Amino acid sequence: MERLRNFINGEYCEPSTGEYIDNFEPATGKVYSLIPNSGAKDVQKAVDAAEKAYPIWSKMSNEKRSQILVKLSEGIEARMDEFTKAESRDNGKPLSLAAHVDIPRAVSNFHFFATAILHFASESHNMEGVGVNYTLRKPIGIVGCISPWNLPLYLFSWKIAPALAAGNCIIAKPSEVTPYTAYLLGQVAKDAGMPDGVLNILHGEGHTVGDAIVKHPKIKAISFTGGTKTGEYIARTAAPMFKKLSLELGGKNPNIIFDDCDFDEMMKTTLLSSFANQGQICLCGSRIFIQRGIYEKFKEEFVEKVGALLVAEPNNPKAKLGAVVSKSHMEKVLSYVDLAKEEGGTVLTGGVQVQMEAPFEDGYYLRPTVIEGLSYDCRTNQEEIFGPVVTITPFDTEEDVLMMANSTVYGLSTTLWTSDLKRAHRMANEVHAGIVWINSWLVRDLRTPFGGVKASGVGREGGWEALRFFTEPKNVFVKY
Ligand code: NAD
Repeated sequence: MERLRNFINGEYCEPSTGEYIDNFEPATGKVYSLIPNSGAKDVQKAVDAAEKAYPIWSKMSNEKRSQILVKLSEGIEARMDEFTKAESRDNGKPLSLAAHVDIPRAVSNFHFFATAILHFASESHNMEGVGVNYTLRKPIGIVGCISPWNLPLYLFSWKIAPALAAGNCIIAKPSEVTPYTAYLLGQVAKDAGMPDGVLNILHGEGHTVGDAIVKHPKIKAISFTGGTKTGEYIARTAAPMFKKLSLELGGKNPNIIFDDCDFDEMMKTTLLSSFANQGQICLCGSRIFIQRGIYEKFKEEFVEKVGALLVAEPNNPKAKLGAVVSKSHMEKVLSYVDLAKEEGGTVLTGGVQVQMEAPFEDGYYLRPTVIEGLSYDCRTNQEEIFGPVVTITPFDTEEDVLMMANSTVYGLSTTLWTSDLKRAHRMANEVHAGIVWINSWLVRDLRTPFGGVKASGVGREGGWEALRFFTEPKNVFVKY
């Protein structure tokens, strides 16, 4: 059985504990590799390496750092097939999704920040007749990057690319549920000429190695993406240590459909925004609000199309949904279907596990699920499910739907479908969200701020926001 290893000081190494955790393949439900069960000693070893590397990396010219990051991005591209297969196998997502979204987007994240750093500038503020302020932006030092399982390499790179570009050294931890592509990345970084100790990748559980990263006094900032509860714990632990924090957390995003929308375009995109990656994208719209005039038409067509989506093993090129990420996650999602029924909801399609044939009979497959008849404020409509489950709810007016859309503790993203431009802007202005898509979904411009409000997080990733997060501003005043 293959054993993954930590990547510390430019070398792959065993965990200090000598222990390993099972890594399951969601498509088959079988263990297919072992992950280091790292602990505080491994974090210390990585911090020691990062401390040595920091003067080299932080003082290297932006041009040189940029060249290394471009090579890193090209290194992933050159191994596209291997990365794509690894991501799909580790996560359960259709191979085609890993090939078209996850890995190409990870490549472009590295490329984007490799070049963005060449254009990053800081401010100066002139005081007429008095003097001038200029602001230096220095790297923070050693930073911790902790990422989730849903878009493993893609979200990992979304953090480490800007952190590296800005001149920081990194202690990074991918999710223990999907460690494989982060494991491959160590070698690619080394081949790209990354000095030893700059990028350290540790594997293991959140409450052990993740916690040790958050608590280490020499790790000055934590960039975290994951669940809101974990984010809360990290904030409680790191805030008294005055660490800089970026928290990208859960969501319960509304997808608001007005009766004047382009119906066909909306329908095509809503299938994706509901069920892409088995509904396990933080930006998926899980609460669909439809204006009453088109509610029945929407319901009929949507339920029919969802019922026809192929759930299949990830290597099947026709698969629209693969396996969900783990057994426990599958059970959690199914428990929400039961809850929805208890709360008075009607399952219009799905709501069940799919029994596949050998060798996939123990895999974690769920039918995409549509539920109606629930009140906007029941638990099913308020809590994050993070799986292939959506609810549909009719509405009459803008005011009604805004109230329902804004009723959760979350505020990550919102999708709006309407041909009325004024209404689109009005609604975009009023919804509680960090990201709004009008007549579209998941269109990505790497320069834009990415993140949520309320319990969906603190801070923003993307573009200059990320480079600002990973640098510390220092103002210098010079008297005339
Ligand atoms: P999670 O919070 O369980 O784990 C995320 C990461 O944190 C993992 O690497 C885990 O090992 C680590 N971790 C867990 N406990 C920790 C601790 N005490 N200290 C330090 N690290 C710890 O989340 P998950 O189940 O992997 O991911 C799903 C969640 O992520 C969903 O809530 C989803 O909405 C959210 N998410 C948010 C965004 C966003 O951009 N806002 C993007 C993707 C996923």
